Amino acid sequence: MSKNLNPCPFCAGTDVHEETSFPFYVHCASCRTDGPMHDNADAARDAWNTRKEVQPA
Ligand SMILES: [Zn+2]
Repeated sequence: MSKNLNPCPFCAGTDVHEETSFPFYVHCASCRTDGPMHDNADAARDAWNTRKEVQPA
């Protein structure tokens, strides 16, 4: 079962994983960034995917 997760907004890494129990958040294994925590997986995934913190070089 694959989820649609955007690359990490900080390091552009694609080694991102979802926490599967409360509190839900998305974690980047490359730079160890944690996304915003939410009480359900869909909200955590949406929050991760809508982060726009990577600025073009
Ligand atoms: Zn990262």
